[in-house]
Amino acid sequence: MQIIPIPCLTDNYAYIINDNISKIVGVVDPSEATPVIAFLKKKNLQLNYILNTHHHFDHIGGNLELKKMYNAKIVGFEKDKKRIPGIDIALTDNECWKFGSFELKIIYIPGHTLGHICFYFENEKVAFTGDTLFSLGCGRIFEGTYEQMFSSLNKIKNLPKDTKIYCGHEYTEKNSEFCISLDSRNKKLISKINDIKLKRSNNLPTVPSSLKDEIECNIFFRCEDEQVKSSLKMKNNTPIEVFMKLRDLKDNF
Ligand code: ZN
Ligand code: FE
Repeated sequence: MQIIPIPCLTDNYAYIINDNISKIVGVVDPSEATPVIAFLKKKNLQLNYILNTHHHFDHIGGNLELKKMYNAKIVGFEKDKKRIPGIDIALTDNECWKFGSFELKIIYIPGHTLGHICFYFENEKVAFTGDTLFSLGCGRIFEGTYEQMFSSLNKIKNLPKDTKIYCGHEYTEKNSEFCISLDSRNKKLISKINDIKLKRSNNLPTVPSSLKDEIECNIFFRCEDEQVKSSLKMKNNTPIEVFMKLRDLKDNF
């Protein structure tokens, strides 16, 4: 399985999934069609599927143009089919679905929106997390509750540690500033930040991250860490209380 990030809009990524065996090609979250078409043309590829993690414009903006041009089928969450333009294949929570010679599983992760899903390729250890889990951050809570977002993040946290995380935006460097401000003694984070800065200075994507890195460095995954709790003066608070505090602070960071 080949996965290629396509920068779209200002800081979005669409991801081309190319199955070299079955010759099936998909794109995850095409916010716009033009850069996706340019890539497919250059590589002489067709497009079979469009996969949407959620209904926001910067994830579905290219749906209809791509569908028309390639006769591609649009795949999304069953409970959000009214909000996913052009949806053809509506999948439910925990459903497994064949993508070429691979199989993906739907993991329902509400919070950012109420119809947000993760596309999880268990055998390939790949997760497309949209705007729920970012590298070193998490999405804003627009439609769900803090509890929903926290439990969605925990669903991802419980996947195998070597899962590669492909998220919806290149927010990593900015997110890292928030993490380090409250977790300044985290050596793993310090070294990850060096790596991020190097990649960004060469205009390279910071995706994919690994779940292991996120668990060790992403402050939203560290709500039980004593250092984090102490820098928030929340030593006696529960993980969900710490999470709520972090999310509020990040909204105004
Ligand atoms: Zn979004
Ligand atoms: Fe987004």
